[in-house]
Amino acid sequence: MGNGLVYQPVSRFFHGIRLYSLLMKTIGLIGGMSWESSLEYYRIINQTVRDTLGGLHSARCLMYSVDFAEIDALQHEGRWDEAATLLIDAAQRLERGGADFVVLCTNTMHKMADAMIAGMHIPLLHIADAAAEQIVARGLHTVGLLGTRFTMEQDFYAGRLVARHGLNVLIPPPEERAMAHRVIYEELVLGRINPASRAAYAQVIAGLVARGAEGIILGCTEIGLLVHDEDSSVPLFDTTRIHAVAAVKRALQES
Ligand code: GLU
Repeated sequence: MGNGLVYQPVSRFFHGIRLYSLLMKTIGLIGGMSWESSLEYYRIINQTVRDTLGGLHSARCLMYSVDFAEIDALQHEGRWDEAATLLIDAAQRLERGGADFVVLCTNTMHKMADAMIAGMHIPLLHIADAAAEQIVARGLHTVGLLGTRFTMEQDFYAGRLVARHGLNVLIPPPEERAMAHRVIYEELVLGRINPASRAAYAQVIAGLVARGAEGIILGCTEIGLLVHDEDSSVPLFDTTRIHAVAAVKRALQES
């Protein structure tokens, strides 16, 4: 009797948690673009599951990590169809491994999102949609976009923010875009954090704010390793954190 009184609430609590855990979906991550930011995804996803469910809970997930040298060559030689084939193969591997949905851990490669969706049977959690939802929820309309030149200059990213989410998107002038791109490919994906590059990014952000940006999208999954809240006078939207947290939300959502 005494035992029943002590243990009943505890066992009910653990039963609830176990049920939650049974319902947790398996997140399929396509990483390696670069692995420096894939580490962040893995850490944030597991921390968020632990903070949400408590105890020893951690995320059910799979990661297929590519060789970034191969991706970098395909991007810079404009061989996007081959890049799409590689990403579809990665997504299918995750699907066969039991993933319930796919998280592509890079902004740039969302250029191939439509091709990927056509080549897989499970959903893709789009990074730009996850970012836009946060921005809209904060009541902001005009945002600055930082990322690779592909992300800043081509329509697949900003176009989606405009067409699907009604945002105004500002990008830096050409020489600043070149600098941002160079820092990503020559420093951040190699794990090099350079204070001079942080200062240069802060200046680019200030320029976007002066043109009316109410928030800044860190639209490359490595920029959050370099730039922090104190480098900006307006809110930063770190796509790595936003995407990783959105993945956990999806994984814990009842289907
Ligand atoms: N991780 C970066 C991004 O979010 C750049 C590396 C890549 O090209 O995939 O765009």
